[in-house]
Amino acid sequence: MIRTYKFKLVPTIDHIQTIEWSLNMCGWLYNSMLEQRRFAYKRRGFSLSYHQQATELPSLKKELPAFKQIYSQVLQQVVKRLDWAFQHFFRRVKRGEKPGFPRFQGKNRFDSLIYPQAKPSMFQGKFLRVPKIGDIRIKIHRQMEGIPKTVTIKRKNGRYYAMVACKIEPPPKKPSGKQVGVDLGVKHFAVTSDNEFFPAMRFLEKGLRDIKRWQRMVSRRKEGSHRRRKAVEWLARAHERVANRRKDLAHKISRSLVDRYDLIAFEKLNIKGMVKNRPLVKKIADAAWRQLIDFTTYKAEWAGKEVKLVDPHNTSQDCSQCGRIVKKDLCDRVHSCRCGYREDRDLNAARNILHRAIGFVPENKVN
Ligand SMILES: [Zn+2]
Repeated sequence: MIRTYKFKLVPTIDHIQTIEWSLNMCGWLYNSMLEQRRFAYKRRGFSLSYHQQATELPSLKKELPAFKQIYSQVLQQVVKRLDWAFQHFFRRVKRGEKPGFPRFQGKNRFDSLIYPQAKPSMFQGKFLRVPKIGDIRIKIHRQMEGIPKTVTIKRKNGRYYAMVACKIEPPPKKPSGKQVGVDLGVKHFAVTSDNEFFPAMRFLEKGLRDIKRWQRMVSRRKEGSHRRRKAVEWLARAHERVANRRKDLAHKISRSLVDRYDLIAFEKLNIKGMVKNRPLVKKIADAAWRQLIDFTTYKAEWAGKEVKLVDPHNTSQDCSQCGRIVKKDLCDRVHSCRCGYREDRDLNAARNILHRAIGFVPENKVN
C-alpha cells in the first residue's frame, strides 16, 4: 500500500533558482528525448526503449556538463516519464483508438523533480535534504505512516511542495462487530447512527468567502494585466485551501470510521443532481461527500472491512423505529413520529441508512 503525503516547502531564493533551473533543464531533456523518439518512430518505424535512452545519459553529461548538477536519478525519471507517455500512447493505439502523439512540454510546463529512492536521511527534522539542491525547510504538518519511498518536488501555483510516497503495511484485520450508518448533510458534514456529529459545514464558509472575493477581483481587473494575473493566482490558492481542508477532514473521519466499524453504510450520491448548475457551497459539499466515501472505501478495503451504498430514497422521511413515512421540509430539523419516536432528523436518517445496509425492516407497531 502506498500513501502519498503533501508537504509545503519553504525554499530560499537560492533553492528556488536551483529548482527552476533544474525544471527547465529537465523539460529540455524531455523534449529532446521526445524528438529522438519521434524521429525513430516516424522516419525509421521503430520505437526506442527506456533503457536505450537512459544509457545515453552519461554521454549527454559529458557533452553538456551542466547536467552533472542534476541528480542522476532525477534525470532517469525524466526519461521514464517520457517512456510512460509512450506506453500509454501505444496501449491506446493497440485498442484501436487514435491518440495524439506524445507532446512537447512547453516552457514552464515541466513542474516536478522525482527522487525515486527516498532515504530516511533526507528527512532532517524541519528540513528536507534534497540531493544537489540543499536543505529545504519543510512543513511536516502530519505524521507520516510507513517508509518513505519516493520524494517529488513539485511546483504548483507558484508554490513548492514535497510529495512523499510512503509504503504502508496494511493493518491486520480486527473486527469490532459494529456497524454504522452515516448521513451526509449540509448542516453537519456527517451524522452517524451512533449519535455522533461531525463538524458543521461552516468549516467551508471562510474558504468560500475568500473564493468569492478573489473571483470578484479577477472579473474586475483588466484582462491581460499583471494585477489580474495575481488575482487569478490568489483565486487558485483559495480553491486549493478549501480542497485541502476538505481532504484533511475526509481523511480524519474516514480513518475514525474504519477503525471502529466493520460495516459502514452511506447513501448512494445522486449523480444527476450534481451536473446541474448549483451554488458553490453545494458543489464543494458534493465534492467533500464524494471524497469521504472514496477514502472510507479504500481504507476499509485495506482493513478488510466493508462499505455499502444504499438507496437514498426517503431516508430522511421514513421513521427508523416504525417504518412510517413522516413528511418533512428541509427546514424541519426534528423527526417526530406518531409512534412516539422523536429525534434529530439527520440521526433518524443515519439509522435508516444503516437499516437498509443490513436489511433490517422496522416493524410497524401502531397503525
Ligand atoms: Zn415511528
